[in-house]
Amino acid sequence: MAMAIEIKKISFRQYKLFPSLHQYFVLNISPMKKNLQQDSFKVSSKVSAAKKAAAVNADNCAEEKPQQYIQGRGAQINTRNRFHKNENVKEHIEGIDDWEEPNTTTQYMEQNAKTIVNKVDSPDVGMAYSMNAYAGCEHGCIYCYARNVHEYWGYSAGLDFERKIIVKKNAAELLRKQLMHPKWEPMPIMLSGNTDCYQPAERKYRLTRGLLEVCNEFNQPVGILTKNAGILNDKDVLQEMARKNIVRAMVSVTSFNEELRRVMEPRTTTALQRLKVIEELSKAGVTMGIMMGPMIPGLNDHEMQRIMKAAADRGATFTAYTFIRLNGAIKFLFHDWLYKNFPDRADKIWHLIEQSHDGKVNDSRWGLRMRGEGSIADMVAQQYATYGRLYKMNLDRKGLDITNFKRPGAQGKLF
Ligand code: SF4
Repeated sequence: MAMAIEIKKISFRQYKLFPSLHQYFVLNISPMKKNLQQDSFKVSSKVSAAKKAAAVNADNCAEEKPQQYIQGRGAQINTRNRFHKNENVKEHIEGIDDWEEPNTTTQYMEQNAKTIVNKVDSPDVGMAYSMNAYAGCEHGCIYCYARNVHEYWGYSAGLDFERKIIVKKNAAELLRKQLMHPKWEPMPIMLSGNTDCYQPAERKYRLTRGLLEVCNEFNQPVGILTKNAGILNDKDVLQEMARKNIVRAMVSVTSFNEELRRVMEPRTTTALQRLKVIEELSKAGVTMGIMMGPMIPGLNDHEMQRIMKAAADRGATFTAYTFIRLNGAIKFLFHDWLYKNFPDRADKIWHLIEQSHDGKVNDSRWGLRMRGEGSIADMVAQQYATYGRLYKMNLDRKGLDITNFKRPGAQGKLF
């Protein structure tokens, strides 16, 4: 009851400043009012932000040109590659030789890789093996932790990650070789353990399709995580694998605010399309889940309930979430992006992230790094537990079936 009185005292201005906290208090008590389900903020217009910046610069007699916003990309800059000894930077004192980052088209770099299945050693990511037919991801989510991995390939974690995609053309062949190896034990493999296996490159190369066909042939269990409706192109093979209980898929949804999605995850499928993916594949018999990650305080954390409910209504039966952390180059990329898109609330969001990671925005502590700590992270965790129970998520503890793994030509089952 006391909480109800508190709620009435929250003014519209306070709600605008702390919408997520407001939601925490309201949601557990009464059903959300329709008007509160709407996001209270809009993405700032980059044109007006650039004009404002120009005006401020004129006032300060500065020579700086307003920076162009690159539409359709998450990162707006290329950060330094930590493995490079030398680098080219925009530092000419008069700015004469400064270059604009042109919005070039995505380049696909075809390679014959040496391996395709990687062992995952982190104890808190919930998978033993992963495979990624593509390195880099054109979806361009600004918070993506896979960005840092692009530096190993010699590129930047920024724009390069979204524009220079390495295509492992021999992925299916490598997987077949791996599964034929007598020492291989059929633990589930995560497709998209690093980058999205249905990113736009898949339309052209169909490497994920090839990997699924091999898995289906060997009865090798796989998990899938995607933000792209392209997964529906493989409904036939997924359906067949689902009948054998060797596949589960998760769709990742972070927000129903389309304006936010467009700048935060620019080349992904819309959230509504992703819900359709859940609906269509669960109707086809595939066990479907919803991933809400990352939750970003002050930006999308108040959307957890509606995302989980919408997914449950469409047939999702399991769920997971992560809390934002900004390791390596992502710290700089996210900061740049945040202040360009949300100048009105950037400070607040940044401090809330810091508060949730012991005063830093990056966090490498196993167990805590994916969940955060402190009051905000705890409230997100409580919401997750509450709504998970409410929408009957994660009740089925049955894992994927590893017992029917077989090698072509081998006699009967191996396990
Ligand atoms: S879809 Fe996944 S892998 Fe691709 S950029 Fe977004 S978070 Fe990263």
